[in-house]
Amino acid sequence: MTKNSIKTILLIEDDPEDARSLNGLFNEEGKPGVKVTVVDCMSDAEKHLAEHVVDVILLDLGLPDAQGLDAVRRAHAAAPRTPVVVLTDSGDELLGEQAVQGGAEDFLIKGQIETHRLLRILHYCIERKLLEETLFLEKERAQVTLDSIGDAVICTDAAGNVSFLNAAAEKTIGWSQEAAMGRPIGEIFHIIDATTREIIPNRMELAVAQDRTVHLPVNCSLIRRDGAEISVEDSASPIHDREGQNAGAVIVFRDVSSSRALALEITHAAQHDVLTGLPNRLLLVDRIDQAIAFALRHKNKVAMLFLDLDGFKHINDSLGHATGDELLKSIAHRLLECVRRADTVSRTGGDEFVVLLSDLEQLKEVTDLATRMLVTVANPHSIDNHDLHITTSIGISVYPDDGLDAATLIKAADTAMYQAKEGGRECYRFFTPDMNVRAVERQSIEEGLRRALERREFTVHYQPKIDLQTGAIAGAEALARWTNFTRGPVSPAEFVPVAEDCGLIVPIGTWVLREACRQARTWVEAGLPMLNIAVNISALEFRNDDFLKNLFMILDETGLNPQLLELELTEGVLMKHAESAASILRALRERGVRVAIDDFGTGYSSLSYLRRFPVDELKIDQSFVRRISTHAGDAPIVTAILAMARSLKLRVVAEGVETPEEVEFLKAHQCDEAQGYYFSRPVTADEFAKLLRSGIPGRADTEHSSLVIA
Ligand code: C2E
Ligand code: MG
Ligand code: MG
Repeated sequence: MTKNSIKTILLIEDDPEDARSLNGLFNEEGKPGVKVTVVDCMSDAEKHLAEHVVDVILLDLGLPDAQGLDAVRRAHAAAPRTPVVVLTDSGDELLGEQAVQGGAEDFLIKGQIETHRLLRILHYCIERKLLEETLFLEKERAQVTLDSIGDAVICTDAAGNVSFLNAAAEKTIGWSQEAAMGRPIGEIFHIIDATTREIIPNRMELAVAQDRTVHLPVNCSLIRRDGAEISVEDSASPIHDREGQNAGAVIVFRDVSSSRALALEITHAAQHDVLTGLPNRLLLVDRIDQAIAFALRHKNKVAMLFLDLDGFKHINDSLGHATGDELLKSIAHRLLECVRRADTVSRTGGDEFVVLLSDLEQLKEVTDLATRMLVTVANPHSIDNHDLHITTSIGISVYPDDGLDAATLIKAADTAMYQAKEGGRECYRFFTPDMNVRAVERQSIEEGLRRALERREFTVHYQPKIDLQTGAIAGAEALARWTNFTRGPVSPAEFVPVAEDCGLIVPIGTWVLREACRQARTWVEAGLPMLNIAVNISALEFRNDDFLKNLFMILDETGLNPQLLELELTEGVLMKHAESAASILRALRERGVRVAIDDFGTGYSSLSYLRRFPVDELKIDQSFVRRISTHAGDAPIVTAILAMARSLKLRVVAEGVETPEEVEFLKAHQCDEAQGYYFSRPVTADEFAKLLRSGIPGRADTEHSSLVIA
């Protein structure tokens, strides 16, 4: 506002003389823009102010209807935003000062007023009033803002005493603004480290001392007035006065209990298995690292037990995932009961558990634990009215003997677990370095297999099956052959299990099946006496949803008569998926495809199931055939199998026949067919075509020299 902007003045003066002379002062100044309204009593003034806004009020304190401070109060009430300047007689300065304390902006002494000063004083009054208004509004705005934000705010003065608390601060610390005001901040604001419980020094002091905003370390808690603990985050910043001197500090903080609880929950979820609540691999690795660090200092050992359930997939597939889940929970529970509190039982995958034994004094503790675990897992689990039986295989590795870090130790225990599986399951094995050699070997086979198809490294060899009555070739078994670029020939005994483990058996098997069908069809077309082609199908292929579709597609594609095709399945494949197996077998029979049980006698050796499945042929495993010669003709098992097969009207093929004695024995016991080196090794397609043309020469000795291939 400038001096020119004084436009309206209300002069409340009952003395006409004083009124005139004051009015004259404005006129004298010759300011036509200043309009002076003169009233001679408070009630008229009030009426005027009710209808008009004026820039300033000049008030005589000796009115007929209002005097002294009462006059000031009424004028102020009638126009709270308008500055009031009182007029006193000379000698009445005290009254003037009281009026200023009572709300007037200033006072003027009658008779001592001259125009120039008058206008300046009035102008200052108006400006001051305006400033007050603005300040008030600003303060109000700040207060409302501070009370409505969620963050708590506390201010201190330069001495570190509380000068302000917003509503959120009152609620969070449990102190009212009234009670806290003026107290040293240290009395009302206590922060501790939530983990160590140590008191965290006051941030405000630090902020002031370092003249910068400082934050609390993470994971701090505030102790409320009632002793309750609240997770908080805060920052403290110094306040400066106009000269840049310390004027106190502001601390802003917020209750982060819920977000911290959420963060803890998320961390927990990231480190634990949802189903069993056990630590997962992530947390396990962390615990192993800790255990190793501890063991290093205390010169003791750490053991890792890698458990993999035997045949869990079967239970899961046959009884459903819900039951499988319950079983896993039950196992988790039992494993936990076997260990000490300091040990970790974790679930690292579907049916895999890793148990970490820290602070180990002697290896006997590990073997005792492994034995206990084998027993506790094997005890029946009562789930959904079923008594479920399952076993586990355990691989064990020890720090520092088998590895110095978590990854190596887990891998070593895993490798040892594989050996436990191969060693007949439901047992434990300690890791040994030669296992590592085997594991590396496996790994290298797997890598080679991944490229083998595209590099066309596979071929199929054919081994004749001989009709023992006629001596003619009754068919052929197709056997995969892999010649790796760098390794040379790799036996199926080596690569098939690896291919089964990593799933590659499906594309490889499909390739063999297509190739065998195509080849058989070529022989038929060439007019050769091709009666039957047998192809091995592994469990994974058989379980594949697209198995039948694929198979029928290959038959259509190659044009092979389905009755010429025979699939060799092992007992395990049928037993493990009895339901689905039966329906697949029915579909195969409908189509005319024959089915043989391969390696018969080595698996479940349960004959009763054979009745349930539509199979056509049994292939007696070569280990039984071998007994014929070693037991000098006394082979009751072979005889029993032959008799049983006859009663079930199944054809029987003896595998791995190598000697004339075996041939004689089998013939004598009416075995239908035989297959083995005695007749021919598996040979290439060309070689086999020659055999089809010429037949198998009568004596093994003569033909071996010309037929040795595989
Ligand atoms: P299998 O199905 O039992 O095949 C018979 C195995 O015995 C073949 O071994 C064969 O070469 C061998 N053999 C034949 N006659 C004799 C003999 O007189 N004495 C001895 N000691 N062995 C004999 P191979 O070719 O090494 O195959 C091993 C196994 O690999 C096969 O056993 C079969 O289970 C699997 N396999 C081979 N090719 C395939 C395939 O294409 N797919 C699938 N899934 N598995 C295959
Ligand atoms: Mg076979
Ligand atoms: Mg076999």
